[in-house]
Amino acid sequence: MKKILIVIFICINFSLLFASEYSISYVNSSRKDHLLVVKLDNKNYFNIYDLERVFDGKVNVDTNLQRIILTIFEKKCIFFFYSKWVKFGNRNYNLHDKIKIENKNFYIPEYFIQLCNEMFFSEFITLENKNIVLNLSTMKKFLIRKIVLDPGHGGKDPGAVGRTLKLKEKDVVLKIAKEVEKLLKKNLNVEVLLTRETDKFVSLRGRTDFANNHQADLFISIHCNAAYSRKANGSEVYYLSPAKSDEARAVEALENDVIKFEEPDAIKRYTDLDFILYDMRQSEHLRESIELANMTQKLLVNNLGTKNKGVKFANFYVLRGAFMPAILLEIAFLSNKFEEKKLNSKSFQKKAAKAVYESIKQFKEKYDKMN
Ligand SMILES: [Zn+2]
Repeated sequence: MKKILIVIFICINFSLLFASEYSISYVNSSRKDHLLVVKLDNKNYFNIYDLERVFDGKVNVDTNLQRIILTIFEKKCIFFFYSKWVKFGNRNYNLHDKIKIENKNFYIPEYFIQLCNEMFFSEFITLENKNIVLNLSTMKKFLIRKIVLDPGHGGKDPGAVGRTLKLKEKDVVLKIAKEVEKLLKKNLNVEVLLTRETDKFVSLRGRTDFANNHQADLFISIHCNAAYSRKANGSEVYYLSPAKSDEARAVEALENDVIKFEEPDAIKRYTDLDFILYDMRQSEHLRESIELANMTQKLLVNNLGTKNKGVKFANFYVLRGAFMPAILLEIAFLSNKFEEKKLNSKSFQKKAAKAVYESIKQFKEKYDKMN
């Protein structure tokens, strides 16, 4: 009997030793925690309420839509009942195993922590073996302190060229960007950087690398439009998303065309797998990008008296690499002789700059208030 008891005791101890859990520590804090791994049907899971606790997150269960929203690091991860997909930003990621529901508890596949570490919250989570280090303290509040203005094209790439005055897009947008810079520096307490200050060529990747390296809070790419039809006119603002309408696709082709000026393997690089990650990083800022796009579009049309072509989305390579809210403006059409004439005038350029400045100001005021 004694022997049996000892054996049982050893077994229990062994099972405890090998009961799986992650140890959690927090940067700049003495707080410690652990995240239990629950075995269900021989698969590893976390109880969603444990995730909520260790991440200082929030769980919302929506039984109508059969989904669970876990908000951590101020971002939403949306799980669907009995599904192996998690929606993050506007993409779905495979968790490899289906979510389980037992006794009103929701169990999330262990792979989720891998996604958090590698894809969703890489700046806040480090994972080594079963040790997780969480950096809750660096969860930065979204304040707008540094703005990168990106005058499109430059150097060997003229961008669109007007039909009558032969006005070049690269020259107009540089003038407008410099005006915006002047207004921002004079009136808002922000740092402003331009991807180019002179008539030089900068690759698309070089533009966003510049903004990322400087850890900019906003990225605004300034362009002028062109169309086959001489009648086409008006202003439009874009944010990043796969292009849907034919018109958006046409503008996208126009702006992405700059690749022909880059090294021979540029197209391959821009379609490379790492851009999937870039897309995701940009989609984190989708809501802010759309908001800024709406503000800017409204102000452009009001200040310039141009036709409102609306806020649209397209797949611009120049926006894909930006890890911050990012928009692309098409101020007016160089291919339209009336708008080309306007774009050539100092007063019109100043009005356009004022509109961009005002929208940044509005956007900044809103987000500063929220923090
Ligand atoms: Zn352009």
